[in-house]
Amino acid sequence: MNAGIAETTYANKSILQKARAQLSTMEAKNVLHMNAGIGETSYANNSILQKTIIQKAWPVLEDTLNDMYNQNFPKCFQIADLGCSSGPNTLLVISQSINTIQGLCQRNDCKTPEFQVYLNDLPDNDFNTIFKSLPKFYEEKLKKRKGEELSPCFVSGTPGSFYGRLFPSRSLHFIHSSSSVHWLSKVPERLDNNKGNIYLANTSPSHVVEAYLNQFQSDFSTFLSLRAEEIVPGGRMVLTFRCRSIADPTSKDCRCLWELLAESLLDMVAEGLIDEAKVDSFNLPFHAPYKDEVKAIIHKEGSFTLDKLEVFEVDWDASDKDDDKHFVFDKYRSGKLVASCIRAAMEPILASHFGDTVIDKLFARFAHHVAENQSVDKLKCFNIVVSLTKK
Ligand code: SAH
Repeated sequence: MNAGIAETTYANKSILQKARAQLSTMEAKNVLHMNAGIGETSYANNSILQKTIIQKAWPVLEDTLNDMYNQNFPKCFQIADLGCSSGPNTLLVISQSINTIQGLCQRNDCKTPEFQVYLNDLPDNDFNTIFKSLPKFYEEKLKKRKGEELSPCFVSGTPGSFYGRLFPSRSLHFIHSSSSVHWLSKVPERLDNNKGNIYLANTSPSHVVEAYLNQFQSDFSTFLSLRAEEIVPGGRMVLTFRCRSIADPTSKDCRCLWELLAESLLDMVAEGLIDEAKVDSFNLPFHAPYKDEVKAIIHKEGSFTLDKLEVFEVDWDASDKDDDKHFVFDKYRSGKLVASCIRAAMEPILASHFGDTVIDKLFARFAHHVAENQSVDKLKCFNIVVSLTKK
């Protein structure tokens, strides 16, 4: 059947009108998705940073699964990945987790469970590309170990915001999320006078700092309460997301990249390509908390015990392997790479505010600013990983 909601499709006119009305009310959520498809600017082609983060957090996840074995796996192990996006990372954690559980069961001579996997993201995520990759996933990834009896695995998509209920009560055994929970449910309110900034910066007034802290507090607390309903008692959750390494919310480690993006927007204002008021009214629905903020929210919300919390850093240029130097040699290559990574995640949100036509020019300027910064001081991306158990 013809896909989509255009006039030529299977969907009839009244359904179409209803869908359009719904789309306009969901706009804030719809601009957050990553670039779709498998083209040059797609998230699928520009997510090595997030892959590196998954790999660095893997030991915490593996320990959590090992720990779960002590409680015995259920007949059908229900896993959800929240903010799965679309690309090589989408099924990475799932296949690694399944392999780990199969290995554990084999070593202990017990029957491997069946797996029900739910992949969640916002409705505008490119679920089609994921679904098309599933036959290959079933065939290859899950058949790595020779001669092994395979447990059935069923993958399905769960479109919706993780700031709302996604699953039936007490239905999940394990929840995972990587590089997603730093996205807020909305841009905080009352961000006036954050002139020239698009997130927290050292010139942000204190009420702006407070607005971001409060929005994260409210969103993360909501996220925990909702998941607490959906997970079985004793169920586990591993979350990895951006954080800052210093308590001061205007510290350099989390604001620098966004300041470079703001600078690129201001360059375009100076060149008459973007309206200044447009930049002043743009702020990110994003927050990178300090670890103590995260601990306090988990404690106050009260549904989960915090088993492990680690903070780690990766270079924004994830291809840079030279850990001894604090600058990169090929600054232009590095600038382009970081710009492509940010573009894959930010293009929809920037295009919806500033229009499609500025995007190429904006990211050319951003790549330049990043390159200059990389030649002096490599941009670092800080992450927090927490392992939680439902009380
Ligand atoms: N987990 C993947 C993708 C991270 S990109 C990886 O590690 O590579 C972040 C994803 O979170 C995006 O696909 C974005 O659409 C999704 N996301 C952001 N806010 C969300 C929300 N409220 N509910 C569900 N998904 C959300």
